[in-house]
Amino acid sequence: MQNGGRLMVVAIDGPAGAGKSTVARLLAKRLGLRYLDTGAMYRCVALRLREVGGSAADRERAEEIARAVRIEFRAGEPQRVLCDGRDVTEAIRMPEIGDLASAVSAIPGVRRALVERQREIVGAGGIVLEGRDAGTVIAPGAELKVFLTASDEERARRRCRELELRGISADFEEVLRRLRERDLQDQTRVDSPLRMAEDAVLVETDGLGIEEVVDRLARLAEDRARV
Ligand code: C5P
Repeated sequence: MQNGGRLMVVAIDGPAGAGKSTVARLLAKRLGLRYLDTGAMYRCVALRLREVGGSAADRERAEEIARAVRIEFRAGEPQRVLCDGRDVTEAIRMPEIGDLASAVSAIPGVRRALVERQREIVGAGGIVLEGRDAGTVIAPGAELKVFLTASDEERARRRCRELELRGISADFEEVLRRLRERDLQDQTRVDSPLRMAEDAVLVETDGLGIEEVVDRLARLAEDRARV
């Protein structure tokens, strides 16, 4: 999708479980754009850190990993994530890796290393990217910025369903507690806290189906492309 000769960039941010990944992936497909899951990159750093026996307190080790780790995305349903050549698509989705990813993402050196790579990937445009700082830090010039959200309970319900589909048993109260903890950590960190960009469109997804959300964002993107 072109916007005055430049390929369009759509930046989607929002809290955990708001449906960003699914919506961003489907929107990219609909618009014929690439797709970047920036959270998967923080998850790769967390996974490697855990594999070497480290914790979020090992800041230097986390920073080193963020600079050195090779992260690749391959086409597939779902898109495959490769970390130093190994397929970690499922491994990075474990809830404890999500928690550790949130903790390592608060380390400025980790963010610096990953944001630099993310900006390179976004480069020439033609992409839908999603995360926590997509519209505020990675791609502040994006043609369309969306802040996707839903109530805590709705997001926890979706996370439970997602985990169960992957054969991981989930306790609603526990998922809700972890989600709120993660939101708090993401919103209160000093470096690039989760916040809505001033020029972002707020989309509340309670009671909306995925297709409805994708339709709405596709219309917004088409309007922006015409400007
Ligand atoms: O989106 P996802 O849940 O996969 O992201 C995992 C964690 O990585 C988030 O909780 C957040 O703390 C961090 N993250 C971030 N900035 C991004 C994407 C993810 O800080 N752009």
